[in-house]
Amino acid sequence: MAADVPTLENFIGGEWRKAAAAESVDLPDPSTGHLLARVPMSGADDVDAAVSAARDAFGPWRATPVADRARVIARFRELLIADSEELARVVTRENGKTIDESRGSIRRGIEATEFAIHAPTLLQGSSLRNVSPGVDTELVRAPVGVVAGITPFNFPVMVPLWMAPLALACGNTFVLKPSERVPLSALRLAGLFGKAGVPPGVFNVVLGARDAVDALLAHPGVDAVGFVGSAPVARHVYATAAKHGKRVLALAGAKNHLIVLPDADLDRSVGAIMSSAFGSAGERCLAGSVVVAVEPGADRLVEAIAERVRKLRLGPGEGPSTEMGPVIRADHRARVQAATDRAESEGAVVVARGQCPEGSAGYFLPPVLFDRVRPEMAVAQEEIFGPVLAVIRVGSLDQAIEVANRSKFGNAAAIFTRDGKAAREFTERIEAGMVGVNIGVPAPPAYFPFVGWKGSVNGDLAATGREAVQFYTRTKVVTSRWF
Ligand code: NAD
Repeated sequence: MAADVPTLENFIGGEWRKAAAAESVDLPDPSTGHLLARVPMSGADDVDAAVSAARDAFGPWRATPVADRARVIARFRELLIADSEELARVVTRENGKTIDESRGSIRRGIEATEFAIHAPTLLQGSSLRNVSPGVDTELVRAPVGVVAGITPFNFPVMVPLWMAPLALACGNTFVLKPSERVPLSALRLAGLFGKAGVPPGVFNVVLGARDAVDALLAHPGVDAVGFVGSAPVARHVYATAAKHGKRVLALAGAKNHLIVLPDADLDRSVGAIMSSAFGSAGERCLAGSVVVAVEPGADRLVEAIAERVRKLRLGPGEGPSTEMGPVIRADHRARVQAATDRAESEGAVVVARGQCPEGSAGYFLPPVLFDRVRPEMAVAQEEIFGPVLAVIRVGSLDQAIEVANRSKFGNAAAIFTRDGKAAREFTERIEAGMVGVNIGVPAPPAYFPFVGWKGSVNGDLAATGREAVQFYTRTKVVTSRWF
């Protein structure tokens, strides 16, 4: 163990605090394998300290006029913009994605912050006079209380920013438990919230993994839990938080289908497919991982994608010519490799494999394109979360929609075509929450709901937009009569 790297600290009650837990894990730079820091595995005591700080801060923060809360979030937005280049570097350093991908993810986080600044409008209720003679009814929105946010490794800034600015603007206080694989971005956000004037205890960060999560799920001081991560953990979080009487929304994994009709614009479609499948090394919940090629035309499409896959430039995220960075960890790389081995053993045909940078100790993995995949193969069904694209060939749009709708997930899907009627048919019948027409990554802007269907979500509502306002507030209906 290197003695010269720091062990990170939690951010609780406006202060940096050493975790009570003795255990910690390594934080390597995925592009080099170089050790950046050690991450404490906080336990129940650390979580209790953070939740207590958030509870103490809740009363005064809830009572702060909404316009003043919105002004604090507006200051936070200015600081985010000023810091966005450094934040992007931190994201790239700890996650491995390219610097441009990091910049894009921060722009998305800023957009979610901008939505939160509209709280004085978003929190307005409604009223109706004379529901009976002389009786008025008024609906008001109140904050839920202490919100815990549990976030994944693949968007170290964006996903926390889907949650915290809006939760705070709605009058809640917040405990963030970021992925132990990307804690630096979360800690940087804590510093910015502090500078923006968020009072101590309103925004807290507890570093750790399963123990910290389980302590949050069971803590009586936590009122709501927002989770984004893999499907098995999402189900655990949803069931456990619900058992403890908490409001919970748990966004989960994905297996997104990209349907390509024979009349699609080949160049543009292939560009969009490449960025969907291999952007962020395939570590995105909106990554297209199955192309459903409608015949005739699959040969042409597969060859055009294959050519691009062979030429993809892999390298460290900061590299100026890098098109794809490493995956997050060596054990994740091994899991993706096992999935591709299995696909080959099930009869999928490798038509193209990219090149890794030579001699690097980073967690690089060559992008792979499989053809002749059958819908029942694991490579077509399971989330791999790496740079692997499978092509299924079908004879008609009907069959393509059937293949996509057979998935247990329903996060996103897209169609590539010049035929408006076919596109409309697809958008009507596809069972997915986020749907693209000639768009490979149909990420909604933060003022629309971000949420999937089926196994891609546990709970109601959405991570962003007005549905998220509903998640972070409770309604109160006041009925009055004055004599
Ligand atoms: P993950 O489920 O491993 O981890 C997510 C969070 O849960 C982390 O904070 C982690 O510390 C914690 N955690 C991990 N194992 C746990 C356990 N056994 N008990 C309690 N807590 C646990 O997910 P990840 O690998 O960090 O992220 C990738 C996954 O997230 C993919 O499946 C991806 O599709 C999904 N994701 C979904 C969306 C969406 O909007 N649907 C967005 C981004 C990522």
